[in-house]
Amino acid sequence: MKVLVAAPLHEKALEVLKNAGFEVLYEEYPDEERLVELVRDVDAIIVRSKPKVTRKVIENAPKLKVIGRAGVGLDNIDLEAAKERGVKVVNSPGASSRSVAELVFGLLFAVARKVAFADRKMREGVWAKKQCMGIELEGKTIGIIGFGRIGYEVAKIANAFGMNVLLYDPKPNEERAREVGGKFVELEELLRESDVVTLHVPLIDATYHLINEERLKLMKKTAILINAARGAVVDTNALVRALQEGWIYGAGLDVFEEEPLPKDHPLTKLDNVVLTPHIGASTEEAQMRAGVQVAEQIVEILKG
Ligand code: NAD
Repeated sequence: MKVLVAAPLHEKALEVLKNAGFEVLYEEYPDEERLVELVRDVDAIIVRSKPKVTRKVIENAPKLKVIGRAGVGLDNIDLEAAKERGVKVVNSPGASSRSVAELVFGLLFAVARKVAFADRKMREGVWAKKQCMGIELEGKTIGIIGFGRIGYEVAKIANAFGMNVLLYDPKPNEERAREVGGKFVELEELLRESDVVTLHVPLIDATYHLINEERLKLMKKTAILINAARGAVVDTNALVRALQEGWIYGAGLDVFEEEPLPKDHPLTKLDNVVLTPHIGASTEEAQMRAGVQVAEQIVEILKG
């Protein structure tokens, strides 16, 4: 059996494949033409968000039985073509949940205690102690919009910090809510009551610009918004005005409507926002889990 690894994969995942006796072929991010050449005699392909596994690639891989995506989103794989050819597609949805949740708190502390701002000032030689008055998290209310895998991890951490947890999800999991001391409320109530609002919904029609001008105006003037879901869940233009005009206190953003965030974007001019370049899943542990989970599923399918 031959497995083509077409994107960087954690060494533990490569071990899983090799220990199963598979021949592993590695080439980083081949283009479509090269991929078509490479897949002619492989039983499995592993990718990340790149390269694209197109219909042409799938139709030129007569032995292909499974496509593995180390990570979550499957938008770079032609699922229709895979289905037609009976090729299974596997991924690793929960692998990065904890990492994303921990980054949420990294962003939250950076905004609440002005860590990034203070660091910038220090490098300018400015001792900005007076401008760096912050807020504590204990006893504050966090509103988690989307109580799935990541939302649940965020809630566990929030609970440990002594925060009150409000939840909004059209499919409420009451048992998990009890576990984290959380309470389901309507979206408007969550926005009005929360000191921190954090987004953990998928980007679908119903969540496009879910946080718009009207909803930003429902939030407390002292509230912090965190977005580590998808950029387009927030109306960026409305958020920029909210931050400029003080409708909310600040924001921590890992994702953007346009990525990479264009140079000189208005968000980069604001001191009450902390920005990271979509690094929610960028930890050693998340990458290891994502790779190993996909490799194990591939072994099971090819050997099963
Ligand atoms: P999940 O599917 O486990 O949970 C999503 C939750 O959102 C579900 O409980 C669902 O019922 C709920 N939901 C759906 N529509 C909703 C709506 N209109 N309002 C409120 N809740 C709604 O997904 P997850 O693993 O927790 O991931 C959440 C999102 O985080 C992903 O879709 C992805 O976009 C993002 N993500 C970001 C990074 C990063 O690097 N920043 C990494 C992984 C995932």
